[in-house]
Amino acid sequence: MRPRARRLLNRPAMKISIERLWGVLPVPVVALDRMPARLVGLSMGVFVVVRSDYLADRPTIVHELEHCKQFWRGGIVLHMVRYYASRTYRLRVEVEAFRAELAACPPSLRRERLDDAARALAGGYHVGLDVAACRHLLTCTLRSDDSLPTSNVASARRSTSSPPVTARSIDSTRR
Ligand SMILES: [Zn+2]
Repeated sequence: MRPRARRLLNRPAMKISIERLWGVLPVPVVALDRMPARLVGLSMGVFVVVRSDYLADRPTIVHELEHCKQFWRGGIVLHMVRYYASRTYRLRVEVEAFRAELAACPPSLRRERLDDAARALAGGYHVGLDVAACRHLLTCTLRSDDSLPTSNVASARRSTSSPPVTARSIDSTRR
C-alpha cells in the first residue's frame, strides 16, 4: 500500500462529538480537517461543523451552539432565510453569538478575542459596520428593548457579494 493511502486510512476523516442545547437537545459537532477558505465553524441548525484545530476551542463551539439555539428560536427555515436576506437580522444574531463566545472566553484572553471578533464581524459578514462599531456592539450594555444601529446598516454601502452562511470565520489574524 502506498504511504499516502496508508496515512489516509489510519487517520479518521471526521470526528463527531455531541453537545446539548438547553441541557437536553443533542447537537452533533463534526470536526473536519479542512474547511473552505477561512471558515473555522459553521452552524447548520441541527448540527455544527468545526475545523479540527478549533474543536477544543470552547468559545468557538459556544458561538456555533448559539446559532443552533437561534435556529430553533427563530423558526428554523425562517431563521435561515432572515439570516441570508436581512443584514440587520444577521448582525443581531452574530452579535449575540460573538457575545456568547466572548463570555465563554477566559478573562485573560478576552481582550485579544474581542479584537479578533470585532475584525471578523466587520469584515466577514457583510454587516456594513466598521471594526470600531462592531467592537462597541460586542461590549456595550444592551437592554432588551434596544435595537441595533439599523440606520448605519441601512446606509452602508450595498454589497454585491452573497452573504455568508451562519458561520464563524476568522480574519487574517489567526489565533
Ligand atoms: Zn456566527
